[in-house]
Amino acid sequence: MECPKCKCELEAKKAAEQKLDIDVCPECEGIWFDKKELEKMMPIARKKLKLHWKAAKQDYLCPRCRVELYEFTYPQTDVWVDMCKTCQGLWLDGGEFEAIEQARQALRQRGRLAEDDPYHTFSGSMRQFMTEFVELVVKVRR
Ligand SMILES: [Zn+2]
Ligand SMILES: [Zn+2]
Repeated sequence: MECPKCKCELEAKKAAEQKLDIDVCPECEGIWFDKKELEKMMPIARKKLKLHWKAAKQDYLCPRCRVELYEFTYPQTDVWVDMCKTCQGLWLDGGEFEAIEQARQALRQRGRLAEDDPYHTFSGSMRQFMTEFVELVVKVRR
């Protein structure tokens, strides 16, 4: 599979006690998660994920299906996440997950992290899924 952004070959990596296969770009450090990997790690992902209605079609392609990815911002941050409508895989650019975690920490410290408030732009399961996703990626990177 090739990186949607720099087109170089993604490297398969094992993570989280070897239970998880992820694909990492050696150039930009972006990460690709197949839906089946997400399902293995996160039960919530088994429910059908809904793409944010405002998600915008991008020029770059899903490494798996070769169709355009859709981009949306992670709740309460201005960090962009890409999702494939066809296979429901997720792409995060290098450093994006750290940016999400930092933004969330800053909000938490100010008591502004809306953990329990429903996001008007996201369904509940999508929000929970993304929260677990970010925590997982941060763990993988450490
Ligand atoms: Zn890349
Ligand atoms: Zn796809």
